[in-house]
Amino acid sequence: MASVEGVQGPIEAEELGLTLAHEHFYSGDEAVAANWPHVRDHEREHELAVEAAKAVMEHGVKTVIEPTAMLLGRDVSKLRGLAEETGLQIVTCTGIYTYDHLPPFLVNRDEDFMAGLFVHDIENGIQGTDVKAAFVKCAADEPGVNERIEKVHRAAARASLQTGAPIMAHSRPASDTGPRQVEILLEEGVGPEKIQIAHTGDTDDLGYIEGLLEKGVWIGMDRYGLDIFLPTDKRNATVLALLEKGHAGRMILSQDFDIPIANGLDWFPPEFVEQMEPLAKDWSMTFLFESVIPALKEAGMSDEQLETMMVENPKRWLTG
Ligand SMILES: [Zn+2]
Repeated sequence: MASVEGVQGPIEAEELGLTLAHEHFYSGDEAVAANWPHVRDHEREHELAVEAAKAVMEHGVKTVIEPTAMLLGRDVSKLRGLAEETGLQIVTCTGIYTYDHLPPFLVNRDEDFMAGLFVHDIENGIQGTDVKAAFVKCAADEPGVNERIEKVHRAAARASLQTGAPIMAHSRPASDTGPRQVEILLEEGVGPEKIQIAHTGDTDDLGYIEGLLEKGVWIGMDRYGLDIFLPTDKRNATVLALLEKGHAGRMILSQDFDIPIANGLDWFPPEFVEQMEPLAKDWSMTFLFESVIPALKEAGMSDEQLETMMVENPKRWLTG
């Protein structure tokens, strides 16, 4: 039977169970944290991570996919500690989270070198541990798919081809990044069943979304609660329309909740987070269960469709 690398070792595919496919327990600006560790409140971050892990487990979640890659403060020792302490299964990644910038070390080396780093994390382990990456993360956002972003995508594709690991690509529908990201990955020879275009649910443009679905990739309807990008009623209407059209088998539901960011512990100072609160007032790691799923069911989503999106699809994406 297929298995997936978790932070505590391999997990049988059938044991993944109810899965949140895109949430961040720990994240941060790693250059700042490395140079001025006193600005980080690791104790508070850990407290909140344990709280969130326990809260999702109470809703029956067995696995959280944690796509915190390089430049977003990846720390697999913390993730493993969290899994040990709470019993939650956590699956994590290799890859680079950048919208534009790359460190000179990587600007001056090619795609194949970068792919080799990703392969190392998948085959040997991450950050000197024996925790192995289960997938490769890459990203495109407002600056678009420029030369550096294309390089990361090609490296992700080559690592995927060498190892069989799937790819999660952060996208920005408002900048029309998804189609180009898919194009590059397919061009490199990655099968569409290995590709997840995260944050596709930030748009309600069905034409854009179906254009991606036609390529055979997975789509992340994975930012529930981030009204700043699209409010919940529009996210729900989009998911329901796609269910109606028979796309349950390609959608993945999650929230992209990020504990340090949501709590003003890293990217944004607390006063900024407070000011932005109305634009993400429902954002949490349990919002799906408390509000979204009941509303979708009320509007006609079946239990089978829910199971497909939150159990089967993450498993099928991870195991190919
Ligand atoms: Zn994310």
